[in-house]
Amino acid sequence: MTGAGSAGRGLRAGAAASFERNTNNDAEPLLAVEDLTIRFGGIVALDRVSFDVPEGSILGLIGPNGAGKTTFFNIITRLYRADSGDVRFQGRSLLRVPAHEIVSLGIARTFQNVELCTRMSVLDNVLLGCHNKLATNPANFLLAGLGWPGLNGAERGAVAEAEEMLEFVGLSGFGSRVVQGLPFGVLKAVELARALVAKPRLLLLDEPAGGLNATEVAELGRLIKRINQELKLTVLVVEHHMNLVMAISDKVVVLDFGCKIAEGTAREVQADKAVIEAYLGADEDD
Ligand code: ATP
Repeated sequence: MTGAGSAGRGLRAGAAASFERNTNNDAEPLLAVEDLTIRFGGIVALDRVSFDVPEGSILGLIGPNGAGKTTFFNIITRLYRADSGDVRFQGRSLLRVPAHEIVSLGIARTFQNVELCTRMSVLDNVLLGCHNKLATNPANFLLAGLGWPGLNGAERGAVAEAEEMLEFVGLSGFGSRVVQGLPFGVLKAVELARALVAKPRLLLLDEPAGGLNATEVAELGRLIKRINQELKLTVLVVEHHMNLVMAISDKVVVLDFGCKIAEGTAREVQADKAVIEAYLGADEDD
């Protein structure tokens, strides 16, 4: 995925343990979406959409262009305000949580169009993912990236975790590089490391394969599996790359014009008539 060789080694035991989940959960799914609706003028971008994301799973959210996938992510991360319905994370409604508290609750995301600070180093960009844990002085991010000796333990720990996460996504040795000018595959991996260093419980990936070549997509698939299995993160991935979605997802939810038209295993949705019609266009005789 990175163009810098295959993704890195596993995390040291302590770091992996810090992602460990209490699996002694009741039946409540990690994320529960209930009758979620949002309109933009006359467009119903999501129309009473409901589904669950079980803890520990990889869920693929697919659908043709304009189906409402990114809108759904934007509601979860509080960029958009739903008109009705609910989204509960660990039993708590997200719809009244301020946007800046979403990461602290345990939700991190990557963006369809990579969103990085291009003049900063790779390491400093990843450190931004720790902002909810570090001291509030913004200068500390830069000092941490420079390895400033006056840093406190938390800041030094953040640097170590950021470097470890860069290694996990296959970018060891890239920390001091300025982001501007790096290949797109590397930028996507930096964004992923920034999301992971926040130690989320739920990772939202918005078209992670967009702009990657076939080799990079295959590497990305393996990396998402490792994120799910080694870091024990629940992953919700929006993606147009069908081979990737079908290969990694435990469950697939299909949207079309804002409505959920199918939900099931990869095999089930691939055989679903409504899904085939949504992607290929309805047969005129039907
Ligand atoms: P793609 O696969 O092309 O990214 P998508 O499934 O992510 O599509 P969305 O971007 O969620 O689709 O858009 C769903 C619908 O909502 C579209 O008709 C889009 O034009 C509309 N929409 C999304 N955001 C806004 C907005 N801020 N203002 C007006 N309409 C919007």
